[in-house]
Formats: sequence, structure tokens, C-alpha cells
Amino acid sequence: MTSLPLVFEEPRGRAKPPRHLADLTPDERRAAAVELGMPAFRADQLSRHYFTRLTDDPALMTDLPAHQREEIVATLLPRLMTPVRTLEADRGTTRKTLWRLGDGALVESVLMRYPDRVTLCVSSQAGCGMACPFCATGQAGLQRNLSTAEIVEQVVAAARSLARDEVPGGPARVSNVVFMGMGEPLANYRAVLGAVRRLTDPAPGGYGMSARGVTVSTVGLVPRIRQLAEEGIPVTLALSLHAPDDDLRNELVPINTRWSVAEAVDAAAGYHERTGRRVSVEYALIRDVNDQGWRADLLGDVLNRHGRRGWVHVNLIPLNPTPGSRWTASDPRDEREFVRRLEARGIPTTVRDTRGREIDGACGQLAATE
Ligand code: SAH
Repeated sequence: MTSLPLVFEEPRGRAKPPRHLADLTPDERRAAAVELGMPAFRADQLSRHYFTRLTDDPALMTDLPAHQREEIVATLLPRLMTPVRTLEADRGTTRKTLWRLGDGALVESVLMRYPDRVTLCVSSQAGCGMACPFCATGQAGLQRNLSTAEIVEQVVAAARSLARDEVPGGPARVSNVVFMGMGEPLANYRAVLGAVRRLTDPAPGGYGMSARGVTVSTVGLVPRIRQLAEEGIPVTLALSLHAPDDDLRNELVPINTRWSVAEAVDAAAGYHERTGRRVSVEYALIRDVNDQGWRADLLGDVLNRHGRRGWVHVNLIPLNPTPGSRWTASDPRDEREFVRRLEARGIPTTVRDTRGREIDGACGQLAATE
């Protein structure tokens, strides 16, 4: 593995979040129960409460001995975060929650309910070290990595509100998780992989969702993309490209000065080769910056140069302007022309819906106003 630059290192001197059941594999949980002087199967009972019944209230855990409930819950299900604010849009089917973590750090998650699925957008870091100039989270830098349990808890909290029928449309489960909230997930690789395993492990050891419902979105940390391809978990990879040429991408996604467009696209094509999963290329359309017809042509050529046909699709995101930014979304005509040119080159292309715009749905905007 190539050594990684400093921005990937944890800032020093911060207290780690407390250990939580969701940080541990099922075997590690059993060992923890034994350490507490309890039979190992208590850990399995507790896992069922957390991942299946979605409760962390000791009073409801009637299958645990009354005198031990408080202790086991305090030890293995410590409170990791509290909601600061929840904003709703689309008649309650889009819900954005701002969370305060134990050390005061703020992160966001966004629930989006569609007729056929429920998607939760989660944060993997408080802040982000990638410094993309159009992204609200990128402006303040990295505070710290989230722990595996802090990531999982965002999903379990959403699952709870769905199960309790707090989201219009009847009780449901979280079917999709996208790592498109705050942070660069592949810069917090170990915790993110742990969270993916907890979410996809069968119940009651984990949440039991399909790996195909999980999308890991990255600026293009090439060694980590290659590592992810070897994990044997068929998650969807999204590559935030935003420009087909190094000159512009160096500016929009500064890590490009370390791993170029060609290297990032190569690694993404390799991910497809290894896993069979179609890769998603993210491209935020920014007026007069990256939305020219010639850039659409070049993007099509760059993606066709690598891998087979059908290995990739492009997801165009109308830019959600951040406060104080000089950049804005593309003209709808330019957007349509961009799509047309990509499709003419055989690249399946979609334009992302802009749910939650009125609640600062984009990346880091809510935390930035707090
Ligand atoms: N760090 C990861 C995941 C978080 S951001 C990544 O970069 O992929 C998820 C997606 O939202 C990325 O493609 C990111 O570039 C994009 N994004 C960030 N700010 C945006 C904005 N203001 N408008 C549109 N897309 C934005």
C-alpha cells in the first residue's frame, strides 16, 4: 500500500467515542459479555434488541435479567449522539437530522423515502480534509473520523423512526445507505468497512441489508479503491469526478494532484472488473466551469477508454450552491446538451433529483449554519 498523505491521519488529542456493540463483531460482543461476567449469549440477545427490535431501552429488554440490564446497556450500548435538529421537506418524506456527537462534533444524515425504497445518506467523518471548493463540508477541514458505531447508529436511528411510523408511507426499513454525507469515507476506511459489515451482516448480528444497497462515494483515493475491490463485499462504488481533465479537476477536487483523472478512472474500472458492479461517476454541473459541450465529449472519451462498455454510468448533480460561493448550477439547456453528448457516446446518464434543497440537503450545509 502506498503511504498516504497527512490529511488521512486522525487529528491528535481527541477523546475516542466509547466502545459500542456496533463497533464489535458478533464474536467480540460475546467476549465482551463474558468479561462482564455474563454468559456469551447475552451479547446475542443484546444484538437482537439493537439491530432487530431497534431498542436501546433497558426496560424493554425483558429477556435479560433485571439486575444486569442497566449494566450491560451502559457498557455495550452507550449513547453516542443526540439529535440537535430535524428538518423535513417533501411532506415529511425527506428528513435531515443534525446530530451532536459525544465530544460536541456535529454531523448530518438525510433520509429520503421513495415509493420503492428508503435511502439514508450518512456521514463518515466530522468535517472533511478533501477541501473541494464547491462543497460546504470541505470548507472547515477535518475534525475527526467517526467510529463504526457512530456511522451505524445513524442508520439504526433512521430505522427506528421508520419502524415507529414517524415517516409518512407506513412502517418500512432502510433499503439503501449512501456514504454521501459529510466526510471522505475511504479516508476513514476501517470504520467505514466495519459499518458496511454491521449493516450487511444477517440479523440479528447485523442489520441484514443487501450490500448492493450500499454506495461508497469517494474523491478517488486510488489505493483504497483497489483495497475495497478485494473485500468481497459487492457495494456500489461512486467516483466523484466533476471534471474529465486534470487542469480543472486539480482545482475542483484537489486530491487530483496526487491521483489524476486517468488513475482514478483506471481504479474505478478495476473495481468493476473485480466485483462486476457498475460504477457510478458523480459530476456536479457548475455553470461555465465544467458544463461545456467539449467537456461532455471528453468525459465520454475518458470513460470509454477504460474497461468494457456498460461498466459505468454518469450521475449528473445540479450544483447546490453553498453560501458565499461564486458558483451556480448550469443552465437547463446546457444540462440537457451534456446528457445528450454523453448518451451519444454510449454512456448511460441520469440527472440526480434535488430533494431536500430547501432544507440545505447538500453536504454539510446544515452543520455549517449551526
Ligand atoms: N467525500 C465523498 C462523499 C461525500 S459528498 C465524495 O466526494 O464522493 C457526496 C457527493 O456530493 C460528491 O460527489 C460531492 O462532490 C457532491 N457535492 C458536494 N457538495 C456539493 C454541492 N454543493 N452541490 C452538488 N454536489 C455536491
